[in-house]
Amino acid sequence: MLKIICYGVRSYEKPYFHDLNKYNFQLTLVEELLTSSNAELAQHHDAVLLRGNCAANRENLTKFKAYGIQYVFTRTVGINHIDLDACSEFGMKVARVPSYSPNAIAELSLTLAMMLFRHTAYMTTKSSFKNFIVDEHTFSKEIHNCKVGIIGVGRIGLTEAKLFKGLGASVIGYDVYQSDVAKEVIPFTTLDELLAESDVVSVHVPYLPGQNDKMINASFLEKMKKGSILINTSRGELQDNQAILDALLSNHLEGFATDVFPKEDELFFRSFDPWQMLPDPTIQKLVELYPRVLVTPHAGSNTVTALSNMIETSYDNFHDILTT
Ligand code: NAD
Repeated sequence: MLKIICYGVRSYEKPYFHDLNKYNFQLTLVEELLTSSNAELAQHHDAVLLRGNCAANRENLTKFKAYGIQYVFTRTVGINHIDLDACSEFGMKVARVPSYSPNAIAELSLTLAMMLFRHTAYMTTKSSFKNFIVDEHTFSKEIHNCKVGIIGVGRIGLTEAKLFKGLGASVIGYDVYQSDVAKEVIPFTTLDELLAESDVVSVHVPYLPGQNDKMINASFLEKMKKGSILINTSRGELQDNQAILDALLSNHLEGFATDVFPKEDELFFRSFDPWQMLPDPTIQKLVELYPRVLVTPHAGSNTVTALSNMIETSYDNFHDILTT
């Protein structure tokens, strides 16, 4: 029976790992992400199952090789956390989950956009302090009269485009590759035109180190329509926090929401007290602009559907590789 050690399993996720185990794999569930200090827990296993921000670097993979681990699988789309060269050198097989629920992330992006658009966070926070006055900050726009620009019209971007279209918004897209399926749903334009025309800009491109680092920079933001809002649920490395802060402080950008930050493993996996411990001090300044800035803790895929699909596909990956 295949013995799998699963790293980064939050306590509330554990029942799903057991309930979906239709192949009766022998499971060890570890709550902590994989680090150099807990890699040795993988001894006496055949396989590891990771999630994002698990450090499957050469150091830890070298230990895994010594333990006889053959399979280094991840239940994520991205594989930036795995040293693929080392896996190939050590003869370890790698698999990922190419898609688990585009709706999970698309719905979060839509929610954040609507919250910024309708000043929802402002109103509900105010009410929680027993202030029920309808003031000028509760005055807002409606999405169906607006233009939404989607950058990266892949699985998530296309799903979000359909959701926004369902609300009556005019949706345009920009992508380095324009699929026929996407072209049937929305018109494509250039990046500059999308930024100039859109009331909401939503980013859904992969982070490609060395190619699109800090793609959302001062020049990108200057090209955005004055008073527009920006949503990033893709990767933190795409955003220049200081440039976004400057655009908000100058009121060129009306609102900003993000599910992601650069150096997330230093940020989202612990709480901060005092603020000085933050990896980047501009994060505090951004967070303090609430409710014009909304931050979620990389929770876009944290839904029952997404988790179930991640686990089921991972188990199928193990089963397929054992039976082919
Ligand atoms: P996908 O591969 O289906 O789509 C990505 C699209 O971006 C593709 O159409 C591609 O051609 C396009 N693209 C790539 N580089 C581009 C560029 N520089 N400019 C414009 N377009 C570009 O991926 P997906 O499943 O839709 O996921 C998109 C991203 O969402 C992932 O790469 C990941 O970073 C992020 N994501 C976030 C969460 C979360 O929890 N917040 C979860 C899953 C994925």
